[in-house]
Order: sequence, then C-alpha cells, then structure tokens
Amino acid sequence: MAIIRFKAIEESLHHKPVKYDPPAGLISEYFGMNVFDKKKMQKYLSTEAFNHVMEAIDKGSRIDRKIADQVASGMKAWAIENGATHYTHWFQPLTEGTAEKHDTFIDFKEDGEVIESFSGKLLVQQEPDASSFPSGGIRNTFEARGYTAWDPSSPAFIVGKTLSIPTIFVSYTGEALDHKTPLLKALYAIDKAAVDVCQYFDKDVTKVISTLGWEQEYFLVDEALYQARPDLILTGRTLMGHASAKDQQLEDHYFSSIPERVTAFINEFEIEAYKLGIPVKTRHNEVAPNQFECAPIFEECNLAVDHNVLLMDLMKKVAKHHNFAVLHHEKPFNEINGSGKHCNWSLATNTGVNLLSPGKNPKSNLQFLTFLVNIIKAVYKHADLLRASVTSAGNAHRLGANEAPPAIISVFIGSQLTKMLGQLEKKVSSKKMTPDEKTELKLNIIKVPQILLDNTDRNRTSPFAFTGNKFEFRAVGSSANPAAAMIALNTAVAEQLVEFKKDVDKLINKGVKKDEAIFQIIRQYSIEAKPILFEGNNYSEEWKKEAEKRGLKNITNPVEALDYYLTEKSKKLFTSFDVMSERELEARTHVRWESYTKKIQIESRVLGDLVLNHIVPTAVRYQSELIESAKGLREIFSEKEFKEIASGRLELIREISEHTSYIKAKVNEMIEARKAANKIEDVREKAMAYATKVFPYLNDIRYHVDKLEFIVDDEYWPLPKYRELLFTR
Ligand code: ADP
Ligand code: MG
Repeated sequence: MAIIRFKAIEESLHHKPVKYDPPAGLISEYFGMNVFDKKKMQKYLSTEAFNHVMEAIDKGSRIDRKIADQVASGMKAWAIENGATHYTHWFQPLTEGTAEKHDTFIDFKEDGEVIESFSGKLLVQQEPDASSFPSGGIRNTFEARGYTAWDPSSPAFIVGKTLSIPTIFVSYTGEALDHKTPLLKALYAIDKAAVDVCQYFDKDVTKVISTLGWEQEYFLVDEALYQARPDLILTGRTLMGHASAKDQQLEDHYFSSIPERVTAFINEFEIEAYKLGIPVKTRHNEVAPNQFECAPIFEECNLAVDHNVLLMDLMKKVAKHHNFAVLHHEKPFNEINGSGKHCNWSLATNTGVNLLSPGKNPKSNLQFLTFLVNIIKAVYKHADLLRASVTSAGNAHRLGANEAPPAIISVFIGSQLTKMLGQLEKKVSSKKMTPDEKTELKLNIIKVPQILLDNTDRNRTSPFAFTGNKFEFRAVGSSANPAAAMIALNTAVAEQLVEFKKDVDKLINKGVKKDEAIFQIIRQYSIEAKPILFEGNNYSEEWKKEAEKRGLKNITNPVEALDYYLTEKSKKLFTSFDVMSERELEARTHVRWESYTKKIQIESRVLGDLVLNHIVPTAVRYQSELIESAKGLREIFSEKEFKEIASGRLELIREISEHTSYIKAKVNEMIEARKAANKIEDVREKAMAYATKVFPYLNDIRYHVDKLEFIVDDEYWPLPKYRELLFTR
C-alpha cells in the first residue's frame, strides 16, 4: 500500500485556513513600515546626509565615507528601534534567488565593553567569501574575494530581525557577479539616451526612468502532498503524473473565487509585502487549477526587480505558515498552463510624462511616435538577444514548446497603431510648404488615437505587446530574476535612441528642420522594422512559416538561445554602453549554460531514481498480484473459459511488462547519455548534449510511467496524483 501518499492526502485534508491578523489601521498607515524610506531618512539623517542620499538616488553620485558614517548611524538607530539585531548585505548572485550573510551589530569597544555598532564602512562595502557563487570562471578559487557595495537607490529594509541593505556584488577585479550591477548600468544608459531624445521635445526633461510592473504567476500545492513528491522538492516540477480527468478544460478556475485557505495565505504575504513597501495590487486565480497571480503597481525598474525577488522569497516563507508550498517553476505540471512573469515596461520622465502615453497635441504625439517606433526597431534589431535573455531550463517548457508565448519574438501594437504607422509611411507631397507646415500637416494626417488604454485590442499570444501605455514582455519565466530581460531590453532601446539622435542630427545639420528630420527618420525606421510587427495568432503553424519568410528567428533550443548573448552585435551593444564587458558577458552566459546542465542533470537523476525504486517496483507488485489471480482462475476454470475470463488480466500483465521493460532500458540509456555528456569539457557543448541527448529521455520515460499510473491499482500508487495535487479546497 502506498502509505506515504495516503498519509499525505489525509494530512492535507486536515489543513484549514490559517487566520492572520493584519496590523491595526489602514494599509497606507503601515505601508513601508519596515523600510528605511525617504520619510525615515528625513527623520534619522542630518539634512546634509539626506541630501547626499537623494542626490545619489537621482544622479548616481558617490557618497563619501563621512556621509556614509552618518547614514549608517541613522540606519542603525532606526533598525534597532524596530527590533533588528543583525544586518546583512542583500544581493542577487547569478543563481536564482537572493543571498545574505547576517552579522550582529555587536562589537567590542576599546575598553572591552560590548556595544551595537554599524559604521559607514560596513554599510558601503563588504567582502563576503564568494567562492561558492557562480562566476562563470571570472573568479578563481584562490581569489575567492568578492565585494558587495551599497545601492542607495534601493532602500534598506528589515526582514525578521535583520536590517537588509541592497547591494551589488562584484569580483575582486571589479567584474559583475550579480544581476543588479549590469541592470543599474543599463538603466543609466537608457536614462541618458532617452533624455537626449526628449530634449528635442521638452527642455525640462533631465531624467528618464525605466518603469517595470511585473505580474508573478505561481502554483500552490499542499505542503503534505508536496513532501510526498520528491520530484517537486528536488526539481520544482513534477517529472511524472498522469493528467487529471478534469483540469483546466472547463475554464472554471480563472478569475473564480479564491479558496479560503489560499486567501488566508495571500492576505498574509500581501500584508508582509506592504510592510516592506511592495505595492502589490492585484490578485486573482489563473487559468490552471491551483495557479494564481500577483501583480504590484509598477515602480522604477531597479526597485521593481528588488521587490520581485524579495516577494518571491517572502511567498515561500509565508506559504509554510499555511501548509502550502509555492511553486515558481515555469512548468510544474504537464498538459496544463505553465507560469510566466509578464514584464510591463515603459519610460517615464522627471516631468511626469509616460513616454508611451499618446499625447493630446501633434507635438506630444510626435514624441510618442518617436519612442514607439524606436522601441519597435530596437526589438527588431535585438529580437535574438531578448529571446536569449528569457531562456532557462524551466522556460524551455513554455517557449516554443507546449504553449505560449512562442520562441519567435514579434511585436503586437493593435489595429489602431498599425493604422497609424501605415499613415506614417505614406508620402505627403506638397511642394510650396515650409518644412514646419509639412510636418504639421503630416502629424495631422496621422491620427494618434488619444485613448489607447481601453481600446488596444489584447492579443494574448504575443510575446511583446503594446497594451495602451506600456509594452508587455510576456516571454519572461516565472522563476527568473526579471533583471536579465530588463538589462537586454533597456540597453537595446538605449542603443536605438542614440542611433536615432545621430540620424536626426545628421539631417538637422544638413539644414532640415527638427520636426521634419524626426519625422523622416521615424518614417524610415517604421518601414525598416515592419517585419517584427505581427497581429495574428502567435501559436499558429502559419505564423512559424510566415516568420521564417520574414527572416525572424524561431529559437526553440534553450542552449542555442544563449549563443545570442555572444554575437558581435550583442557584444558591441553591451560593451559600448559599458553595461557588461566581453568577459562579463561570456562569464554569465557560461553560468547559464552550466545552470541548464545542472538542472537537467538533477531532473534526470531524480527521474531515474524514482522510476527504479518507486514506480517499477510498484508496477511489478501489482503485476504479481494479477499473475496470482490469473493462476487461480486457471485452476478453477476450463482452458476455454479461462481464456475468455482472464483475457483482460493477461493483457494487463503484458502491458505492465512492456512498460517496465521499456522504462528500465531507457533509464539505462539515459544514464549512459549522461555519462557521455559529463565527459564533455566545453560548457556549451555539454549543455547542448544535455538538451539534445539527455532531456528527450525525460519525456520518453515519463510517457510510460504515466501509462502505468493509469493502469496500476490506485491503492499501490506511491506518489500523489495530479488530481490530488491540483485541487485545494
Ligand atoms: P493584465 O496585463 O493581466 O491585463 P494589468 O493590465 O492589470 O494586467 O497589468 C498591468 C500591469 O502593468 C500592472 O502590474 C501595472 O503596474 C503595470 N503598468 C501599468 N502602467 C505601467 C507603466 N507605465 N510602466 C510599467 N508598468 C506599468
Ligand atoms: Mg499581463
């Protein structure tokens, strides 16, 4: 009997909604209570120190040691008043998730007395032993030192009893070993490039920030059932499991009422998020059973990324209080929807303008058109890089595999903007007009719809869609740190804007009036980038053919996708904006290939173990029972009657033998494929061997395991089934 499974089911049935009392008062009253935000800085810092920090946030200026000491002392006072005993530099190494090493505030004074101390030196920079973080060969083991350095643009916060200070993480030689360092550089690049372009339209624009509003999808599984699934524990996804007779086909989960147990969990993590200043706003059921989504109000990109990884961590912790395990994996269950992390993205100026919001007059419409077309062109030029940025072992199950979005990057803009770009392409011939009059006329001909927000048609199949006043990059995986996608996107758009300015200035220098020059260039770009625009169904076979005709890449292999980080085009992009050096780029690509290899290696081992010591023995035991009963029948019936009566049983016995023999043979072959792959030195080739030689066995073996699950007596089956995992009451 499958004791563990049935115990887990029984335990899960006892799990009830867990009440969680929110702090007293309105959300706005406790929002950010655990964050050393502007308000608290004003209270705990001298005016001088406060102004320095504000300038560092705004302009990226350095904070000297004296000021850092003041900030540290204010931060410490606030943290201790709020119960903190420890502090940590909190950073995002090239693994998934975050890293922290806690130290207490206590120190000895010269006279031996113990005090709480925290200096500017400790705030600004630390030297964690970094030898166990992935570095892609940048850091030799004999040079294990890495530095974490304070990022003043993301405020410190308290989790539990620890003051957490967001930091970057670099090697002894100054190379980035994290997500944040290149992200900050990419955000700097787009700020500069976009401000320069905004200057054509509005001299008051001195800063442009990139805005990000992510939507985090996830699954919940009862903790007891989760503990009975070694594949979920070790790989984050189910490596086997026959589809539930009912899953998402009735479409009854999407936006339906959230089960009470789940609501209790969501309530608690939302409240904890508010305390940390994370403005979570939306919650709903997703398409698949037990799948949910959480989305905050958008924020400045760097902060939004920090908040996303912080929230993912928080969700895991809070889930435990509610006897849930939260799954951030892109594809925890076969045959039902996977999870993504849509990244809503736009650009906002210091003058309060969203550059992707159409304006009210021709002038601001020209600015809108400028940014729209430049972004489309950037995506066209760097589609392969954007594809690379979202690749991972988990996301490979979504992109170009079983479901949306496809591995072909295209841009959806909706029928109104398509019409508008069509108008833009038309030549306006009017001989006796001044350039200004011409532009004015053209702008009047181009009808920029004023309210796009409510009537941009939604095309849910597009990987990169304009949704009224922002673009939505939908190909990002649910478990990913969104920084990788944001680094690629922001840098690509920065490059495009710089090129745009050059092209426009060239025309201006030739005597073309400014607006006319801008007009001519966006018209030219719009025509050039047209192949990337696609309004149809991205899941269809026709699109694959059409995309090929247009020269758009369909990169389904996750290992190959990473090659596009290392093309001359990508290297030039990242190095010219000083976002990443070639060495950094190569190192992080290596880390991602290595990570792919390790994930598939682990999945393959777990599957091998589980089938050999859970599934095959179970099937054989059930088969023995069938054999015994067949023997019994043979004793009591005549030969002729036996053949009729036992035929079903004999068939089952044969089927079980076929599946188990097949599984055993394939597991052996898979082990050999792994051995061969492990001998390969080259990081990329090894990952490729895992993708093409090892990975296919996972699906192949699983198919037969799932068939066995279907025919073996339910009493014997050792692992919780899909129908048990997926329906929390
Ligand atoms: P869905 O895309 O599922 O329909 P919503 O439209 O509610 O969901 O999602 C909107 C998301 O876009 C939210 O996370 C919101 O914060 C974000 N968003 C809205 N405006 C911007 C903007 N200017 N920049 C970045 N993100 C934005
Ligand atoms: Mg969305």
